Amino acid sequence: ALGYHKVVKENRNLYNMVQDLKGNIRVYCRIRPIFNDETKTVIDHIGDDGSLVVVDPLKPQKDKRKIFQFNHVFGPNATQYDVFRETQPLVRSVMDGYNVCIFAYGQTGSGKTHTMCGPGGSANELGINCLAINDLFQLSNERKDIIEYRIQIRSCASDDGLVLPNATMCPVKSTTDVINLMKLGEGNRAVGSTAINNQSSRSHSVLTIHVHGEDVSRNILQSCFHLVDLAGSERVDKSEVTGDGLKEAQYINKSLACLGDVIAALAQKNSHIPYRNSKLTLLLQNALGGNAKTLMFAHVNPEGDSFGETMSTLKFAQRVSTVELGAARANKETAEVLELKAQIENLKKALANKQ
Ligand code: ADP
Ligand code: MG
Repeated sequence: ALGYHKVVKENRNLYNMVQDLKGNIRVYCRIRPIFNDETKTVIDHIGDDGSLVVVDPLKPQKDKRKIFQFNHVFGPNATQYDVFRETQPLVRSVMDGYNVCIFAYGQTGSGKTHTMCGPGGSANELGINCLAINDLFQLSNERKDIIEYRIQIRSCASDDGLVLPNATMCPVKSTTDVINLMKLGEGNRAVGSTAINNQSSRSHSVLTIHVHGEDVSRNILQSCFHLVDLAGSERVDKSEVTGDGLKEAQYINKSLACLGDVIAALAQKNSHIPYRNSKLTLLLQNALGGNAKTLMFAHVNPEGDSFGETMSTLKFAQRVSTVELGAARANKETAEVLELKAQIENLKKALANKQ
């Protein structure tokens, strides 16, 4: 058994090394627990090498099993901290000037909000958003003698428009500031709880953190960290959404279809990538095609009757993991270079206005 684990571990290291060479897009899968003991699961096997085998409980024949490979798979018993520990190095690279984007994908009820924001309540249930911000402040404190950081955040939720006119950037100094700000945001949303549930499955929620750092020799780093809790990925009959009687299955949020198109174009290495088709893909443009580090959480509801949705989530996730990006670069310059770059931009603008 020990030998097996060693091989598995080496496999996983190898897979991660290949991933490093291919560029910085990673896919983690997280499977939430089953809440009803009577229910059959679609999960056949979770490997600690990032492999996952699923099977339709209605067709349990061996040859019908589907095998997937990701950077990591978190089973139903994984804690919030287990998940954060695997994410922490990525989060920390924000403080070195890397743009980072973490997004949660999956059908409604599969655990996206649980991972990103936590279920609320006790401290050991905190989501990646609070654990990450906490860690950024801790790192800022550890480095305070050599580098001075400023952190600003913006949080918004909408069906597609991600930069709301009234979502302002707020400077924050501690995790408590952030939590208070998010509470304020929630308080401003004067809608009933059914409306919030409905709203949250149909809309994306985005928390953006901007980090600015200046070290003792006036090197300036700037980075941007997006935490995205996407709309539910389930398809519904169009008739249910619009009442126009057409029986065509559609995403409940239009921009997820655009995300699918962008991923398909990237996977096929097309010369034109349709980022401009939705605000979501415009926002993720940098994360999916620029110099950023990107992590997708593919969320799975393991219950038997979700087999169809689970298969489409896993296929999408597998496709995302085949996308090859260039290596990530840190956004770090000396203050002088930054000033010169700004001057060049201003001169270009002035010239364009004259012509
Ligand atoms: P989504 O945001 O994808 O619609 P939620 O995060 O709201 O799904 O999860 C649905 C329900 O399942 C919630 O009650 C949530 O607390 C619970 N849940 C999700 N993931 C887990 C998990 N890993 N462990 C325990 N409960 C979970
Ligand atoms: Mg949710």
